[in-house]
Amino acid sequence: MAEAVKRNCPLRAQMNSIRLASVDGRSLYVQNASPQQGENEFRYSRPKVIRLLLAEDDDVDRERVQRLLARSRLSCEIIEAPSGKQALEIMRNEAPDCLLLDYHLGDMTGIEVLNQMAQDGVATPVIMITGVGGEELVVTAMRLGVYDYLPKSLLNKDKLSDAIESSLEQAALQWRLIEMQKKLERMSFYDELTGLPNRNLFFDRLEQEILNAERDGSRFALLMMDLNLFKEVNDQLGHGVGDKVLAEIASRFCSVARKSDTISRLGGDEFTCLLHGVESVSCAVAFAEKVVDVISTPLAIDDNVVQVEVSIGICLYPSHGTEASLLLSNADHAMYQAKKSFRDYVVHDAARQKESGRIHVGLHLNRALDHKELYMVYQPKINLMTHEVIALEALVRWRSPELGLVGPAQFIPLAERSALITKLTFAIVDMVLDQMVAWRLQKQLRVPVSINISARLLDDTNLPAKILDNLHRRNLQAADLMVEVTETALASSNELAKRVVAELAAAGIGISIDDFGTGFTSFKYIRDIDISEIKIDRLFVTDLSEKERDASIVRSIALLSDSMAVRVVAEGIESQECQSALTRLGCMYGQGYHIAHPMRADELTRWLQRLH
Ligand code: C2E
Ligand code: CA
Ligand code: CA
Repeated sequence: MAEAVKRNCPLRAQMNSIRLASVDGRSLYVQNASPQQGENEFRYSRPKVIRLLLAEDDDVDRERVQRLLARSRLSCEIIEAPSGKQALEIMRNEAPDCLLLDYHLGDMTGIEVLNQMAQDGVATPVIMITGVGGEELVVTAMRLGVYDYLPKSLLNKDKLSDAIESSLEQAALQWRLIEMQKKLERMSFYDELTGLPNRNLFFDRLEQEILNAERDGSRFALLMMDLNLFKEVNDQLGHGVGDKVLAEIASRFCSVARKSDTISRLGGDEFTCLLHGVESVSCAVAFAEKVVDVISTPLAIDDNVVQVEVSIGICLYPSHGTEASLLLSNADHAMYQAKKSFRDYVVHDAARQKESGRIHVGLHLNRALDHKELYMVYQPKINLMTHEVIALEALVRWRSPELGLVGPAQFIPLAERSALITKLTFAIVDMVLDQMVAWRLQKQLRVPVSINISARLLDDTNLPAKILDNLHRRNLQAADLMVEVTETALASSNELAKRVVAELAAAGIGISIDDFGTGFTSFKYIRDIDISEIKIDRLFVTDLSEKERDASIVRSIALLSDSMAVRVVAEGIESQECQSALTRLGCMYGQGYHIAHPMRADELTRWLQRLH
């Protein structure tokens, strides 16, 4: 539609349906599905000055139309074209609002002009004015898109104005209808969030692919792809982030597909891929590995870094089925096999189920939390002079039936990249606080216990309240608990995280700066926030007796902290020499394998009994 008409478009849908005047005399109604204020509501405002092109070779007739229009209620700017060629030229370059077209032009007929306009893709509303022509001509002209038809003999100023006005309205409505049709088409075949083909279009393409394959003997692969732990992303980071993750994942899927492949979103976190022309399992597997690869790069969404994993079920036409429903159910089944066995992908093969990808630790870990495969060990922090236990550090362990004992260094970073870290940390808080209650009931240990907190949790402004609530529910005091936050996490944290740490400290929970010496914490910050403990990183401790440089670092940390009344704990003490060197340098507290390894609660009780 010409730009001029678009701009001034038109008409008010008064009720829930809009009437479209149709060319063959019947009326066409467009259902205006539950019009929302401002969205589907459609107003017509006629251009203040209508730019009319008058294509007429006869000077007298041109003048007559000019005169009628001048006396009419319309305000028009008239552009004259005495030939068909000139009319077409003006149509292309000036996009008038409406064309008054004579049937007989010196060089062309009106029908020829209309044909050429259709070829040029010009859709300006046209009113035909002519002295000749019977019914047949009218029908031909209408078929070519003419909006109205006025015999010269019946022409007067009102008829002319009515025709122009109603043509402009119709044109605008038709433009609106086309827009609505396009939108409906998009809605029924494409997923709004990702722009990918939706379930409908996918089924259509699958049927089409099968028909083509039957005809020309070609082959293809069908992949069912489902994201793991996506629910956690939604629950913990909100649906806004979830939507952005889906959109980004969709574009990553597309980045590894070819033009002839169809990636679609069936709904939720479920995607499919039709790989056109794939003949062998190894080709489909190579594609699945590319998908896994491209998905494994963490996504940076707003301020979050999100890691998602995908489980893929693969099946091939025709070896795993020749009908759409069978192919789908086989791909789906293979995808569930992948999920169940924690693999990236599984190829459908009723007999062997042989082809499968690597194990997913993330998915596994989520299940581990639900199945209580995690437990805590406790490592004592002691006074190096008196050997008195002053505190315990709680460290998490995971014994997986499939993977064996997995160290925190392996799975904590993974949990930090997915949204699992929150769930994991609160499971740890629960385990540790329950253990503290048990010790108190048994009238055993009463020392504070520290928990390691990931930097990612410090963005949660509810963290202090959640931790305090957990303490109070068990009648424990804030001072019974300590949190260890690494120096690097604090140094790189934003204002919000610093506020959360300050709030924890203000509530009476001890703050310990872990791995101290590796980051760049300013001492001002330590003073401002009321830090209770600094742990010298074991990098400077373990080989202390041999390295002069480490000795001077330990000495200065001990000195500075002393002046601020902050307890200094050296971690990673592995020998008596190291322990002695520490006390000589003024570091009074320590932790390490030389004193005790991290132990389960019952082992710790026995260790304490041996100590006394
Ligand atoms: P970290 O907080 O610095 O914990 C101290 C680590 O040093 C522990 O390893 C501990 O077993 C080990 N260690 C203790 N004494 C010695 C020693 O004398 N020599 C040596 N070489 N190592 C010693 P672990 O338990 O494997 O934990 C590794 C890291 O994983 C921890 O470092 C901490 O950053 C993280 N982590 C452990 N448990 C948790 C947890 O419950 N939550 C979170 N968010 N992170 C945890
Ligand atoms: Ca620690
Ligand atoms: Ca540490």
